[in-house]
Amino acid sequence: MSDKDNMTDNGTNTETSAAAKADAKAAPGAASGAAPGAAPKNGGDHIKIVKNATCTFCGCVCDDMDLTVDLKEKRITKAKNACVLGRAWFAEHTIEDRPAALIDGREASVEEAVEEAARILLEARYPITYGLSDSTCEAQRVAVAISDIVKGSVDTTTSVCHGPSGIAFQGVGETTSTLGEVKNRADLVIYWGGNPAESHPRHFTRYAVTPKGMHIPNGKKDRTVVLVDVRKTPSAPVSDIFIQVKPGRDFELLWTLRALVNGKKITADVEELTGVARETLDDLVARMKSCSYGVLFFGMGLTMTRGRHFNSGAVLALAADLNQYAPFVAKPVRGHGNVTGADNVVSWQTGYPFGVNFNRGFPRFNPGEFTTVDVLARGEADAALVIATDPASNFPKKAIETLRRIPVISLDTKPTETSRLARVAFSVATYGINTGGTVYRMDDVPITLRPAFESPYPGDEEILTAIRDKILALRPPRQDAAADRAAP
Ligand code: SF4
Repeated sequence: MSDKDNMTDNGTNTETSAAAKADAKAAPGAASGAAPGAAPKNGGDHIKIVKNATCTFCGCVCDDMDLTVDLKEKRITKAKNACVLGRAWFAEHTIEDRPAALIDGREASVEEAVEEAARILLEARYPITYGLSDSTCEAQRVAVAISDIVKGSVDTTTSVCHGPSGIAFQGVGETTSTLGEVKNRADLVIYWGGNPAESHPRHFTRYAVTPKGMHIPNGKKDRTVVLVDVRKTPSAPVSDIFIQVKPGRDFELLWTLRALVNGKKITADVEELTGVARETLDDLVARMKSCSYGVLFFGMGLTMTRGRHFNSGAVLALAADLNQYAPFVAKPVRGHGNVTGADNVVSWQTGYPFGVNFNRGFPRFNPGEFTTVDVLARGEADAALVIATDPASNFPKKAIETLRRIPVISLDTKPTETSRLARVAFSVATYGINTGGTVYRMDDVPITLRPAFESPYPGDEEILTAIRDKILALRPPRQDAAADRAAP
């Protein structure tokens, strides 16, 4: 992999993550508005242009945004290069006039709310921390420390999206690459169980289908694009080959492809079983074995349907098999702006990517036991710290019932169902728009955020750090390795 394969538009790469951290330190939580990389103000003294800013709406984390910021109105008026989703993200995150903190629905100071949150977490027997996928790595790190100190669980939205892939990575391994490599080298691009045209609009144009690359000088003309899905989606017209698999038969189809790649015989009923004709399979296998560089992008249509981590494991194993013939990688297409960062941070802090419990004083990983939906549905948690997500609007009924019963602490940029039922609700600044810090693109490349304008609200990192420090101050003194580790 060359340096160029790793590069991002705002100049960060894996080697510059130290610089990213330095930037984040310079802008802890509360937005400085200093906007590293910002161009000089122009168009009037209240108009600012921020070059190479980052959109954190989806896992593409496009870092080539040119933002026009109205500092007087505190809003972004133009987001050049953003897709329709990115433009909506930038447009809707203005500054609203709301209290910075509420306790039981009544306005409170941030200090009072921090103390109440710390007290709730300290007094709980089984506190859980959940969310984190729309927050910076710096904030995620503090959230893991809090869970460690109070001996609760920490879990991210990965557990309800690519959790099965996280399990499969541990069981099967991962043949991986950056999106820069894909852009520069891939001549066979397969999307399986995803609809990037609607969920990640610039995935096609910036990374995998149309851009010209070092070894792909003619862009799309030099690539074959295959889409595998249960029905035709708006992504289908982009593909050269559309393969329709029967719902719930992805695993069988992937295992059949593995058999063919490895020269095994397959039974005659494969079309009846999977919905895909033998000739189509033979053609795809021939293309996979003869390409110069192949990539399998897989989405939640694969990970959250029948088979789950077996499906993810099968796609990872297929990519590994194909390396007998050509460089071939498999990458999940991730949804939230920093869900990949959440996986990385929780993994490097605990050894596991999500659904981690500290109750015994050391990290344990067991999806289904320590994942938030399950803990709440069984009514086990007695306090919840929810960061940048809204489980009260999208979790199963039983889990929401528990959330209504227990004290909840929420951090969010907007009022949500979760913040409305929360005992303590913080209004926070928006990461990437008001705060700096580090996020990870879906290919595990860290990117430095360039905030556009200042928010009156603190950021997640600042609030979580204050809660952690208050917990350490309030807890009875005792020998505790976790506290020692987590202390600043
Ligand atoms: S593809 Fe995703 S990250 Fe890129 S501009 Fe659109 S919403 Fe933002």
